[in-house]
Amino acid sequence: MNGRGPGSRPPAGVVLDTDGVLLDSAVVHAAAWKTAFDACLDRWASDSGTQPPFDADGEYRRLVDGRSRYDGAAALLTARGLHLPPGDPHDAPGCGTVWAVAALKEREFVDLLRTEGVTAFADARPALAALHAADVPCAAVSASRHARALIGAAGLAGLLTVTVDGEDAARLRLPGKPDPALFLRAADLLGSSPRETAVVEDAIAGIEAARRGGFGLVAGVDRTPLRRTTALLREQGADLVVPDLTTLVRSVWGEGG
Ligand SMILES: [Mg+2]
Repeated sequence: MNGRGPGSRPPAGVVLDTDGVLLDSAVVHAAAWKTAFDACLDRWASDSGTQPPFDADGEYRRLVDGRSRYDGAAALLTARGLHLPPGDPHDAPGCGTVWAVAALKEREFVDLLRTEGVTAFADARPALAALHAADVPCAAVSASRHARALIGAAGLAGLLTVTVDGEDAARLRLPGKPDPALFLRAADLLGSSPRETAVVEDAIAGIEAARRGGFGLVAGVDRTPLRRTTALLREQGADLVVPDLTTLVRSVWGEGG
């Protein structure tokens, strides 16, 4: 396996991204961002010339996926050549500040959660159970403040030793991905050094964060039907890219297959 020589021991702990890796929620985040951005892009277009609608696939992956609400909104604005004042975390949903745009996305996301809900991917539970049986402790990491509740609702909490989410990031003032702070915090709580820990990610910003954190194995997950993100994840530094968690556990730990 790339980056893992013969005889090297498999990672002793695993830090897994939540949205898009454990939970089928990245698509819900992308839909909420699209509603929020498109509402604002229509308004901003009059001041800045034409602004095409938000691309919930390409722009979402490149600019927003894996990032905090504020950082995601700021990244899209910068990419579109738009300048808004940062505002304040208590700004009401709207289009006038970066925080207001972030709040608009949050309102849409909570609406979608209420109407559609979020479920775990079918492979998440068996993969976590196989690692649990092999005494490999697992952590879930997310930039989202909703992650802990969603993991609980999806029935995965009992298979995870540690969860680090957006609430922890805010409380501890940890910077979001592509900074490795959230992953390093999770590994620390697992009692596992970065070198002996694997990170599992589906986002470009997350792969970059894992690389910067010096993790022993950086695994990408590409669940797209045509494996459209595999090359991107490899370019960003993933040691391997798998289509699902069952494949990952079988190829790295030889379990659950
Ligand atoms: Mg993700």
